[in-house]
Amino acid sequence: SSSATDSKDLRAKLVLLGDSGVGKSCIVLRFVRGQFDPTSKVTVGASFLSQTLALEDSTIVKFEIWDTAGQERYAALAPLYYRGAAAAIVVYDITSPDSFSKAQYWVKELQKHGSPGIVMVLVGNKADLHENRSVSSQDAQEYAEKNNMFFIETSAKTADNINQLFEEIAKRLPRPTA
Ligand code: GDP
Ligand code: MG
Repeated sequence: SSSATDSKDLRAKLVLLGDSGVGKSCIVLRFVRGQFDPTSKVTVGASFLSQTLALEDSTIVKFEIWDTAGQERYAALAPLYYRGAAAAIVVYDITSPDSFSKAQYWVKELQKHGSPGIVMVLVGNKADLHENRSVSSQDAQEYAEKNNMFFIETSAKTADNINQLFEEIAKRLPRPTA
């Protein structure tokens, strides 16, 4: 049973952070609409979408997703989006070492200023471009472990691991105590 008032249902503010062009908006679009649009527009400021996910234990999680712009000129606005967030997805592009460095900057920022207990996930996106890989899975995995994060590689283009990403976040959200 999962009526709107089911005590097992969860609502979670979720924020995506990471360099411009790593695929944050495409990840959200793939999860929410099941689509990939290679001509998608650059995000200005931030955009909001919500999507529900049913877990195996019949819990319904409603994600309130804030997709931020990665550009430097919006960095000062980021706290507005990650403040109060239950979870943060920090995205880099597996073909871009610079974007991996930028991801580490966001992790530090979240560790300093994010909500205590925030669920943090490191995502290496564009896994379909493995021929141009320049960030090893092992380096990213080690970094994630040191920083108490879940790590996953995704492709918004092929949909690889996109649902898994959100399921893993949902599983890690704190459950309300009855
Ligand atoms: P954002 O700035 O982080 O929101 O990045 P976008 O979602 O706007 O994507 C930036 C560019 O990367 C676009 O041209 C997308 O088509 C492309 N892109 C996004 N995700 C993937 C992916 O998984 N694989 C490939 N090959 N391209 C992707
Ligand atoms: Mg975007």
